[in-house]
Amino acid sequence: MSAPVSAPTATRVSLLAPVTGVLVPIEQVPDPVFAGKMVGEGISIDPLENILVAPCDGEVVHLHPSLHALTIRSPEGLEVLTHIGLDTVRMRGEGFEVKVKVGDQVKAGDELIVFDLDMVATQAKSLLTQMVIANTADMLSGLEPETGFVTAGQSVAAVAILSAPAAAEEGKAPRQPGKKVTSDAIIIPNPVGLHARPASVLSNLAAQYESDVTLHRGEDQANAKSVMAIMGMEVRFRDKVRLSAYGADADEAIKDLAEQLRVGLGEEGAVPIEEGADEDAEHAAPAPVAAVAPAPRRRSDDPNVLLGVSASPGLGVGTVLQIRHQDIEVEENSNDRHRERRKLNDAIDRSLVQLTALEDRLASQSDAEKAAIFAAHREILRDPELLDLANSGIDKGKTAGYAWRSAYTNYADKLAALKNELLAGRAIDVRDVGSRVLEEITGQRREKALIPAGSILIAEDLTPSDTASLDPSAVAGFCTTAGGASSHVAILARALDIPAVAGIEPRALDIPEGTRVILDGAKGTLRQNVTEDEVERIRQRQERQAQRRAIELEHADEPATTTDGHHVEIVANIGSLDDAQAAMTKGAEGVGLLRSEFVFMDRRSAPTEDEQAQIYTDIAKALKPGQPLVIRTLDVGGDKPLPYLPIAPEENPFLGQRGIRVGLDRPEILRTQIRAILRAADAGAKINVMFPMISTIEDFRLAKAIFEEERNAMGVLPMPVGIMCEVPSTAVMAHQFAAEVDFFSVGTNDLTQYTLAMDRGHPKLAPQVDALNPAVLGLIAECVRGAHAAGRWVGVCGGAASDIQAVPLLVGIGVDELSVSVPAIPSVKALIRSLSLERCQELAAQALGADSAEAVRALVPLDND
Ligand code: PEP
Ligand code: MG
Repeated sequence: MSAPVSAPTATRVSLLAPVTGVLVPIEQVPDPVFAGKMVGEGISIDPLENILVAPCDGEVVHLHPSLHALTIRSPEGLEVLTHIGLDTVRMRGEGFEVKVKVGDQVKAGDELIVFDLDMVATQAKSLLTQMVIANTADMLSGLEPETGFVTAGQSVAAVAILSAPAAAEEGKAPRQPGKKVTSDAIIIPNPVGLHARPASVLSNLAAQYESDVTLHRGEDQANAKSVMAIMGMEVRFRDKVRLSAYGADADEAIKDLAEQLRVGLGEEGAVPIEEGADEDAEHAAPAPVAAVAPAPRRRSDDPNVLLGVSASPGLGVGTVLQIRHQDIEVEENSNDRHRERRKLNDAIDRSLVQLTALEDRLASQSDAEKAAIFAAHREILRDPELLDLANSGIDKGKTAGYAWRSAYTNYADKLAALKNELLAGRAIDVRDVGSRVLEEITGQRREKALIPAGSILIAEDLTPSDTASLDPSAVAGFCTTAGGASSHVAILARALDIPAVAGIEPRALDIPEGTRVILDGAKGTLRQNVTEDEVERIRQRQERQAQRRAIELEHADEPATTTDGHHVEIVANIGSLDDAQAAMTKGAEGVGLLRSEFVFMDRRSAPTEDEQAQIYTDIAKALKPGQPLVIRTLDVGGDKPLPYLPIAPEENPFLGQRGIRVGLDRPEILRTQIRAILRAADAGAKINVMFPMISTIEDFRLAKAIFEEERNAMGVLPMPVGIMCEVPSTAVMAHQFAAEVDFFSVGTNDLTQYTLAMDRGHPKLAPQVDALNPAVLGLIAECVRGAHAAGRWVGVCGGAASDIQAVPLLVGIGVDELSVSVPAIPSVKALIRSLSLERCQELAAQALGADSAEAVRALVPLDND
């Protein structure tokens, strides 16, 4: 028989006021998370002094990276969170001086954080400072708050009444219920370990949890929310690691993250490995991917030939221009920490805006690979370890510039020293984004070299930013002594269609400027002392191409009419007034797609109606009177976020809040834009309004009703209202849509991804995401049939319209208008003038019956000369 259990008496723990001020009931705090006690039971104080002290004895178990919140674990196991102000996280540590560190033992009343009252008052949402029991559910049966004025470290602010089991365990080891959780051992299944991509997946997943998450391998450990800290650990295939988490959601974090890590963080080729299974498997490791094996530097026996690796195919003939980077000068010491922190934060914010704009622009130009590079740069700027390193430099009296430069070069050097070439290759990205911020801090810009036409650039390394800003018409090619075929620079070179060689022999740096060379991007070679014959042959071929382009440009204003008299309207895809003006010089017959999202990007708040009206009017005036100007309403959301238009993270952003769905969800944004468009109605061009991402007729009706309401209110005459056809449902139902819409414009970029269920930006699927897949062509034909039956016109404004192999097929299918990238206008027009409609129709019929995109492309071979 067991002994009767006596009910333990409840234990009361007095908690002292963490700041001096007036007590406020937690329910009255203007923050739903605190007021709703989602963090736990607690009190709030309206502070009158600027020192936060320990409310009880205990250990500092957590300090928020933004230095405004700190948790102490009392001997009874209470986790007492003190949180200065509301929304103070935005201050990123500026104005806070922390006197303790995690792991310190403190006594009630000890100083913890000194903060700048004025700064919090002006920069945060509120000064109200909270003291909350983070493990309320596990520890408390009640909390008795005091009222009135309290003095920090002297007055009791609240009494915590421990729940019976918690009280019963008092005196034993401190309870940490569900707080610090460690996973079982996990064997890394990723064939090349935790390189940049899986490291970034892990850090992003970890960032979704409030808890601190740490990755452990033996003695080594890294903050799992920091890509660079993870990469710095150089975790290899089959390494045994563990994850630990500390915080309110530690259980969920470990459950989720450990499983994700076990299955390879979504990386192809990663097969989960159970602990103990096949201990010899090291020997059976999958072959490392080609890019990872450090490419042995090739050396040539021929003094005139320098060897490297192919980074981007193509032949370039030109003269050498050596590119050397100059250093930006920074002062070392400063006596104003606050000013330096502000400088750093502002510079990072400005850089983030620049990177988002760059990324958005590239993404909407379907340059997913380039866009992803700048997305990775943004991630680097959010890396908590890097920011901590820079902030601690500032705390030691260094200037923002000095502290930032030391932090990122330190990180880049660590990465560069790693054995794994993939990880080492990311050092250039850290340096690149680091210099971007340094330029913002100092206001000094790295001078961009003036590049004479026909230059072959030689450098130790070129940053992605350097490469993205190169003028392809001046650069005949480039080579770097660093990097490999998988480097970002190589990816960018391919995107820009510039021949490039990476990892070239270092003696390339000694070739005198002005030397004539031939760069063979495909073979990965650079030849000096070239013969006239060699140069001549290449020149002739390049000349033939240039001549053809010149002739096309000469005839650019002629209509695109086939040899048998069928006219196809050739208009431009634009994003700005500059584009509109350029389009007019290239023979555009109007604008088939104004991607109005560019008007919304690269800014901190939405453009006003007046600002938008001005832009649309200027663009309408840049066109010839009466030419069509199709303005697509804002197409953002999901993959194209705007900083001032928060959209909750979605699992499948391409299938979520995108395009018109955002407009219908935030009708004020749509209405403002529609009013601005209507105000440009009399500017000259014939304005058409087009809604993006229409997938159901209901969405169109709702958007059209909003348009008509605004139009009637403004008394503007009717204008054509059409839709993008970029979702299969719209193509299939074109017949029904045609009864209500005035026109269709096929967005082949999205139509292809939604038809083939392949992300348009997926690097691995890229070769298959081909608009010439017969399934996509079939949907375009369906759209044309439905539209023409009701007398509506159909355009194509996706990338396929500028694809020389696609043009005859689209014409044959019956598309009435092609809206193409500005540089492609003259060649698309010239091509159509060389075709007969009859031949195009034959080709289209064959293409629709073909069984693959490859077979379709074989029907329209490219002229390679
Ligand atoms: C398309 O999807 O083809 C299109 C033109 O729209 P965007 O590329 O801007 O998504
Ligand atoms: Mg689209």
